[in-house]
Amino acid sequence: TQTFDADFLVRWLAAVAEAVDREADRLTELDSAIGDADHGANLRRGFAAVTETLAKDPPATPGAVLTAAGRQLISTVGGASGPLYGTLLRRTGKTLGDDERVTRERLAEALGSGVAAVSQLGGAQVGDKTMIDALVPAVEGLRGSFGAARAAAEEGALATVPLRARKGRASYLGERSVGHQDPGATSSALLFAALDEIART
Ligand code: ADP
Ligand code: MG
Ligand code: MG
Repeated sequence: TQTFDADFLVRWLAAVAEAVDREADRLTELDSAIGDADHGANLRRGFAAVTETLAKDPPATPGAVLTAAGRQLISTVGGASGPLYGTLLRRTGKTLGDDERVTRERLAEALGSGVAAVSQLGGAQVGDKTMIDALVPAVEGLRGSFGAARAAAEEGALATVPLRARKGRASYLGERSVGHQDPGATSSALLFAALDEIART
């Protein structure tokens, strides 16, 4: 069975930072339709800080990489997505503990606990038109393969279009949130696309 070390997780987060940088305008555009037009800027700032922190002081285990990244996101990003993504990574890292190497199955299981923590923090379930709509199917897909996780996250993000938002800023719009893709579900899909990319290299 293939296993993944701390460096793999560092490369994942660097790939996320690149993807978020590349897609920042699109994320902000989505957030301008049903939010306050800062999602791209929020994540760009957050993941740039994560990359910098990890480069300066690279943690020795996969779990420590994710907890350090989560902590950095929480302290860097003011918007809702900072504490939510920060909690996702911190809880996932905590669940991984101090193993030097982890399997994909173990990562899926730990991410499952991270997503549960996000759901607990934000009170959102699948169908509420949030990042949860991409994260839940992605983790389920990751039990099968990195490619399945990526595809499930993308599908979950697309499936937010016809939904009415029930959590976060977009929920203030009520029916007017229908017909737009959720920015956070879209950025969550970027996370799993980057993971699939790194797993292939
Ligand atoms: P803010 O809304 O504070 O400006 P961002 O624009 O960075 O923060 O992030 C918005 C995204 O955060 C939304 O598109 C949604 O996916 C996610 N989000 C907001 N509130 C919640 C929540 N309670 N639970 C899960 N995700 C949420
Ligand atoms: Mg916003
Ligand atoms: Mg904001």
